[in-house]
Amino acid sequence: MKIIQNKFFCTECGKEGISVIRQENRQREIGHLKKLYCLNCKKETNHAEIREMEGYSQQDFQQEYELGRFVGGRRIEIKKLSLCTNLKCKYNINKNCWNANKTFRCSHRRYDNKKEVNNESI
Ligand SMILES: [Zn+2]
Repeated sequence: MKIIQNKFFCTECGKEGISVIRQENRQREIGHLKKLYCLNCKKETNHAEIREMEGYSQQDFQQEYELGRFVGGRRIEIKKLSLCTNLKCKYNINKNCWNANKTFRCSHRRYDNKKEVNNESI
């Protein structure tokens, strides 16, 4: 059994957390979140585990964090994201609005799939 040491990043402040050494004994979902004490937030927060080998890199975390996929320490699933019609928006990833934490005010966001999109400019 190999010992692995992966980096963890705080989903609340985005800073690198204390790395955890553990045995690779079972498969976890990619980008798995773990509650760890964050020195920056001075409290326990959810941290995303970086697993380069399995396709979840530090860049993937940074993109999720910067665009706003984490809300209250949880990652919002792709299928639960609002749809977006503004293809030029940096928060628009494959027509989904990744700004789940709503730090960006946008009129293209569709909260309700039944409602028509409001196309007025931001
Ligand atoms: Zn933190």
